[in-house]
Amino acid sequence: MSAPTEAQILAALKKIPDPDRAQDIVALGMVQGVIVKDGHVMFSLEVDAKRGGALEPLRKAAEKAVESLPGVLSVSAVLTAQKAAAPAAGQRQPGTGPAGGPNAPGGKMLVPGVRAIVAVASGKGGVGKSTTATNLAVALSQKGLKVGILDADIYGPSQPRMLGISGKPKSPDGKTLTPMENYGIKCMSIGFLVPEDTPMIWRGPMVMGALEQMLRDVAWGELDILVVDMPPGTGDAQLTMSQRVPLAGAVIVSTPQDIALLDARKGLNMFRKVDVPVFGIVENMSYHICTNCGHREDIFGHGGARREAEKLGVDFLGEVPLDIAIRETSDAGTPITARDTQSAHAKAYRAIADAVWSKIETGTKAGPRIVIQ
Ligand code: ADP
Repeated sequence: MSAPTEAQILAALKKIPDPDRAQDIVALGMVQGVIVKDGHVMFSLEVDAKRGGALEPLRKAAEKAVESLPGVLSVSAVLTAQKAAAPAAGQRQPGTGPAGGPNAPGGKMLVPGVRAIVAVASGKGGVGKSTTATNLAVALSQKGLKVGILDADIYGPSQPRMLGISGKPKSPDGKTLTPMENYGIKCMSIGFLVPEDTPMIWRGPMVMGALEQMLRDVAWGELDILVVDMPPGTGDAQLTMSQRVPLAGAVIVSTPQDIALLDARKGLNMFRKVDVPVFGIVENMSYHICTNCGHREDIFGHGGARREAEKLGVDFLGEVPLDIAIRETSDAGTPITARDTQSAHAKAYRAIADAVWSKIETGTKAGPRIVIQ
């Protein structure tokens, strides 16, 4: 059966009225960015940020209306609040607005109860950003901190797999989602919300809508630190995220090759552009440990990241070797930091966690910038 056209989707959505206004959601121009791919349908509903929390039933009704069309395999609708978009970076105010509203002045989202949000980012995919985010979160939690992890890697969410969590988050009150949990870490991922076979073609505003929901509509509770596993790269979506999420700082993960290719530098510049402090660089797959004899091989040369960090004026947070034990544990949902607490790798991640936490503590004392109300 062939998939419906955009016109057919809009016709179905025309039957849904906005509960607070006399017209339907299509006539009001709320339906944006309709994407149809092999029977999978995605679109966003642009709403006023103030109404966001109350419009979940509308979002569900819109999804249902499209689901009932012949040829539709899945539907994802996200609420977006583009009207409250951030002004240019230079005009931004620190995120210290009144608590209660979803956004602080300057378009920043507020996450009450969360002391510091830290982004784990990379200039490109496949460098071990998610693995680092997971092990960093576990190591921080082993320090006795209350830790959450937000998988914002909308294009390829890995946290459900890496933390060994499956199933769907519950919503006891019908408004907020309860985060999933393992290893004492609260976790929310787009991977829990979108079926695995849904193509991940999200446009900028849709990415922001999903991220906004994961920050605002999740009952994170009191957290010392929320680690955000960012989507790889330094495009518009990443830039907007770095601008809208009140980040205390960023950790950049790179491999020795990508340091040579300057991808790490792009990541660094992106955060600088939006005034987010870069806590430092982690060199992943830094050297190789032979599975048979334990011999260490500096395949890509050694010390490049440390030198590059020095040159760029940021801290070098540590190095993690390329070791099959890291791949196996991370892909099996048993992060090495939790599984083998005495291993050299676990120690390396704990040292990185110590460095990151001390940056947060210093920053918290230094000013109100990262105290999120
Ligand atoms: P990214 O988030 O940058 O795309 P991932 O964390 O998903 O990267 O890692 C990509 C793959 O490399 C995964 O299979 C992961 O288990 C593996 N990996 C990551 N870091 C290491 C490492 N230090 N040693 C061995 N394998 C690793």
